[in-house]
Amino acid sequence: MEASNYNDFIETNWDNIKENIRSEYDIADISFDTWIRPLNYSGIENDTVSIVIPSDQAQAINYITKKYKNFFVESISVMIDHSINVNFILENEAKKEEINTKEKIYNINSENANLISKYRFDTFVVGNNNKFAHSAALAVAESPGEAYNPLYLYGGSGLGKTHLMHSIGHFILDRDPNKKVLYVTSENFTNEVINAIRSGNSSKMNEIREKYRSVDVLLIDDVQYIIGKDATQQEFFNTFNELHSAGKQIIISSDKPPQDMETLEERFRTRFQWGLTADIQAPDYETRMAILKKYSENYGKEIDNAVFEYIAENITSNIRELEGAYNKLIAYSRLNKIDISMDIVEEALKDIINPNQIKEITSQNIIEMVAEHFNMTSEDIKSKRKTADLVLPRQICMYLCKELTQEPLQEIARALNKKDHTTIIYGIKKISDGVKVDKSLANKIDVIKKKINPS
Ligand code: ADP
Ligand code: MG
Repeated sequence: MEASNYNDFIETNWDNIKENIRSEYDIADISFDTWIRPLNYSGIENDTVSIVIPSDQAQAINYITKKYKNFFVESISVMIDHSINVNFILENEAKKEEINTKEKIYNINSENANLISKYRFDTFVVGNNNKFAHSAALAVAESPGEAYNPLYLYGGSGLGKTHLMHSIGHFILDRDPNKKVLYVTSENFTNEVINAIRSGNSSKMNEIREKYRSVDVLLIDDVQYIIGKDATQQEFFNTFNELHSAGKQIIISSDKPPQDMETLEERFRTRFQWGLTADIQAPDYETRMAILKKYSENYGKEIDNAVFEYIAENITSNIRELEGAYNKLIAYSRLNKIDISMDIVEEALKDIINPNQIKEITSQNIIEMVAEHFNMTSEDIKSKRKTADLVLPRQICMYLCKELTQEPLQEIARALNKKDHTTIIYGIKKISDGVKVDKSLANKIDVIKKKINPS
């Protein structure tokens, strides 16, 4: 058994250890119940196991030490196949010690790791969109430097890359607080390098190198912001090489796979692919529902499923927005002291979700959008001027108004400042004939349509 596993082993087998002592040394039930059963395991450090005596037995510490210490020493040493010593401590002292070690650990490692406490594996919902990335992240967290190195996570914004990276960091530190884990955004890394260079002080640069090259696990987020920035990029790759060849774990995130990073030099591109590349996709409906339900676990009250369905149906591309919608709903309900239900959802989320968007398209919206597309004003389009550059935008307006609104031709004519609707009929025909033969016109119409109605 490895030294780092002694603690886990003793902790999980604590009751077995005591039972073993009971049978090995033939201890009477009354003695066992009085002296041994109440003892708790506290930890192991430098091969010394600390055992806590509860405060109501404090006066018996000398007796327990004299009578039972050797039983524990022998029993535990045999079980872990490694000779240890035992130290009995009183409950109150143990508490003090625990706080001290926690503080120590916190100061040395956890705090410097830059980890956000809520981004953990147990707050991360696994769905079809992220299953592979999640498994890869967990494997790396369980065996840093051994499973996949580097781990390269990529995907669009708001899909959970940063959350997964922090989860890895927490997992490693939770299991081994002595591991040096460091999370950094590419932006901060770049700033550090730039400032060091600007200061002209070479010891500043050495400090940065020291800092990044002494870690066991480096998490570098949004690496796309480093690529192309010469000095920073070079600094990063030197760090990368040094850590990698020392068997230290590197976890990288980016918005694209390495092969799509155009400005990335070939030798780095292959390096990023040495380990494992895993992508995160947009969440499907089931995953969106599961995430919303996960968020609502803290709400305290039952929320109607229809509420989740409403949000999950309307916010589809991005988990950050999903979370934003949920938080907005909670805030609205608190502020107005109304429970969350279908009655308030639409009102609470009206700035974020507009399910009637398609029906709300009017001639006016269309004219504005077309004008914007052609770099003119809607007044230009509505004007009586007959210059050539105005003809096409006007006709596109006519065509799109017909296609995207329910408005009668007379109304479209009025919106465009035309006296009668025959001009409108003519314009519509020009465009509908045109798109059949003119690919670039068809594409233009398509782009404008998407601008008008993004969904
Ligand atoms: P990215 O780094 O890919 O832009 P983040 O990791 O910052 O995305 O995620 C955006 C928000 O969505 C965060 O608040 C995060 O907690 C949440 N989130 C993302 N994926 C999940 C998931 N699978 N389960 C729960 N929350 C998630
Ligand atoms: Mg991120």
